[in-house]
Amino acid sequence: MFRRPHNILTTKSESAKRLLLSFLVLSILPMASFNTKTAPAFGVKRVVIDAGHGGKDSGCLGASSKEKDVCLAIALKLGKFIEENLKGVEVIYTRKTDVFIELHERANIANKNKADLFVCIHANSGPKGSRGAETYIMGLHKSDANLAVAKRENASILMEDNYKTNYEGFDPNSDESYIIFNLMQSAYQEHSTKIAQKIQNHFKTIGRRNRGVKQAGFLVLYRTTMPSVLIETGFLTDKEEEKFLNDSASQSKISSAIFEAFKEYKQEIEKNLEGMEEIPVKKETVKEKKQEEKEVQNPPLYDYNDDTKVKKQLAFKVQLFSASTQMELKPENFKGLESVREYKDGSIYKYVAGNAKNMEEATQLQSEIREKGYKDAFVVAFYKGKRIPMSKAMKLMHAEK
Ligand SMILES: [Zn+2]
Repeated sequence: MFRRPHNILTTKSESAKRLLLSFLVLSILPMASFNTKTAPAFGVKRVVIDAGHGGKDSGCLGASSKEKDVCLAIALKLGKFIEENLKGVEVIYTRKTDVFIELHERANIANKNKADLFVCIHANSGPKGSRGAETYIMGLHKSDANLAVAKRENASILMEDNYKTNYEGFDPNSDESYIIFNLMQSAYQEHSTKIAQKIQNHFKTIGRRNRGVKQAGFLVLYRTTMPSVLIETGFLTDKEEEKFLNDSASQSKISSAIFEAFKEYKQEIEKNLEGMEEIPVKKETVKEKKQEEKEVQNPPLYDYNDDTKVKKQLAFKVQLFSASTQMELKPENFKGLESVREYKDGSIYKYVAGNAKNMEEATQLQSEIREKGYKDAFVVAFYKGKRIPMSKAMKLMHAEK
């Protein structure tokens, strides 16, 4: 009755034809009017500054100092710089004293205050000779060293009472947990990278060794709904750096470098907004297409059979965008993608592509689709045709092993 969805996008020659077709369609039709960009809608007015660790969680240790104290000192100085020099920007701190705050609560503070930016301040620990500053954004680690930093920072949850329920079974020591993680992040990567690069540039100008912008799966970042970065300001395990990180004047230098980066980022974002005719819409909302609205009979998400095994009822797809009006599932409406399906979430239509049977396939699919121009596309899981959390999908996958 229904056309079977393609297993993976299209073959190479097919996709080349598709590309040509979508190019032709685009040159004839006016530009599609939906927008899935996630630029902060009204500029950068509210920043949440998160001093790492605190209370019973000391963070990493130097010879004579604790990470939690260094983080707090730099965070408070950064906040003060912003408050005194950027009128109209509200600063919210996750902590201003030596208290323990759970990682998910830090993200929660940023989300519920609708912050435009989330900045976490930390200090590093590493093998002999490790020096310099690095800024992380949420993503899949490209080296074991980056993964090690995330594992160490995420280990804070082991001091929390209900970490197993609060983090949906996340195990800070399991490599696989970090793979699932990568699939959850996505939407704010572009802006997070922008501010991260600026921070590293300004660190260079104050003479810090630049270790670059890196990616890894940090629990404190993954649930934030705004651009967010985690700064490793330096190594407490290095004698010279420990001295530097604990010196009040040097802390001010570090804070002022972050402040300059923040100021530049804010100006850039807000300048771009002025140049636009319309304010970009927020994630999950789109401008309505100017076309006659008609009832569209779209095919179901995917074929599954109640009699078959669990895995056959599971599907991983890549979500492209959401829309308030229903769209016809024609490839030309979706940059030439053929296997697009829709599902409804309340009154919102969500469009997904592909049909992957496991995580590896899904990750591959996600990068193919991002290359096609859906930069914010991310993997979603379905069970018996219903959207389920990624953690549940993983449990179901493992249940049958
Ligand atoms: Zn830390």
